Amino acid sequence: MLTNDQLAQWDRENFFHPSTHLAQHARGEAPGRVISSGEGVYISDRDGTRLLDAFAGLYCVNVGYGRSEIAEAIAAQARELAYYHAYVGHGTEASITLAKMVLDRAPANMSKVYFGLGGSDANETNVKLVWYYNNILGRPEKKKIISRWRGYHGSGLMTGSLTGLELFHKKFDLPLAQVLHTEAPDYFRRADLDMSEADFVAHCVAELEALIDREGADTIAAFIGEPMLGTGGIVPPPAGYWPAIQAVLKRHDILLIADEVVTGFGRLGSMFGADHYAIEADIITIAKGLTSAYAPLSGSIIADRVWKVLEQGTDENGPIGHGWTYSAHPIGAAAGVANLKLIDELGLVANAAETGAYFNAEMRTALGDHAHVGDVRGEGLLCAVEVVEDKASRRFFDPGKKVGAALSAAMLRRGVIARAMPQGDILGFAPPLCLTLEEADTIVAATRDAVTEVLG
Ligand code: PLP
Repeated sequence: MLTNDQLAQWDRENFFHPSTHLAQHARGEAPGRVISSGEGVYISDRDGTRLLDAFAGLYCVNVGYGRSEIAEAIAAQARELAYYHAYVGHGTEASITLAKMVLDRAPANMSKVYFGLGGSDANETNVKLVWYYNNILGRPEKKKIISRWRGYHGSGLMTGSLTGLELFHKKFDLPLAQVLHTEAPDYFRRADLDMSEADFVAHCVAELEALIDREGADTIAAFIGEPMLGTGGIVPPPAGYWPAIQAVLKRHDILLIADEVVTGFGRLGSMFGADHYAIEADIITIAKGLTSAYAPLSGSIIADRVWKVLEQGTDENGPIGHGWTYSAHPIGAAAGVANLKLIDELGLVANAAETGAYFNAEMRTALGDHAHVGDVRGEGLLCAVEVVEDKASRRFFDPGKKVGAALSAAMLRRGVIARAMPQGDILGFAPPLCLTLEEADTIVAATRDAVTEVLG
């Protein structure tokens, strides 16, 4: 077996890690961690450290680690048929079954699912399909896509543009010209502290209306949003936000893409965020929870009204010119089938609702009154604790102080992984959906101690 020192050296010399300070890592100033195993909500590294993963990887290992049912389904598929493509009508039992299982769980207006590999490529697919749709309908000018500041939709060229976080644009010449950003539905960060929640929703709607007016509705194809902001800070929408936004989109014939890469398959305590917030989407993006990350797989679920136009398009133009070699990969599909069965058998959607309500309530009780905790918020098994320098005036800490990173490090010293979210001093929690009440207590206790250590 390789020594840890050998691995660390090879890592620094050869491995280009995503979302990493490359220079510090190469100089050995930012030690990584070599993960070797996982069981339930825990992972272990090669040094034998066991950590409670309160972020489920990147909010994706929803059924928890070490599920032999999924491992065996993957192994059986690899032995039987590791790969065949899905082009020109080909499929496997696993991919056809998974498409049916996804549609059986999706909102009633959904018609078909296209499979990709990850959330970013699924959103690239969605934008292409929306452009195709408007070309088939004879509206070649209707192409711009509206996204929200603080939204996260991936880090490709188009999806990195849709993402409304500066870090993903800076020095990459993004966003691309077809992308427009509007107000983030982040009531905590509203500019006017005296504004009521209802007035803030009216403000978000007015901002959207003004943007549409400025650009012209006939140039805008779609609006994309996560039912609840994820990477941008784990922020539930203000009450009444989605019905109000949807009314505007409908009036201007703008399609709605619900990016459910995080919220799909139970994270909010409902099968989809669309069910949770009564969103009627035209396209739903899925990934992470589709396979609980046991294998890479994503999907674009297409509503009937869009599907009909795509069919018309191929009657007029021939086969759709869009596909990835690994679309509907049999191993990903086999993992997806086993994963969705497990979610049902273990009642994980209901557990996300019940344990999630307990977890969020306990976090609020433990931290809500702390002098530097500005906001404790969440829904289902998503939760965030945002800290501020001054609570009354909601003054944030200087980003240079890296308070969020210090909190996350203090959590690690207590054996719990919580994510320092990329923009703001925000600790994010998205544990596996199989979390127990005792494990929820462990996370809350560690958070209270970590906040006390760092902020007094
Ligand atoms: N959309 C949302 C809402 C996400 O949270 C993510 C990833 O975190 C993505 C898209 C991109 O998915 P991927 O990293 O699999 O490309």
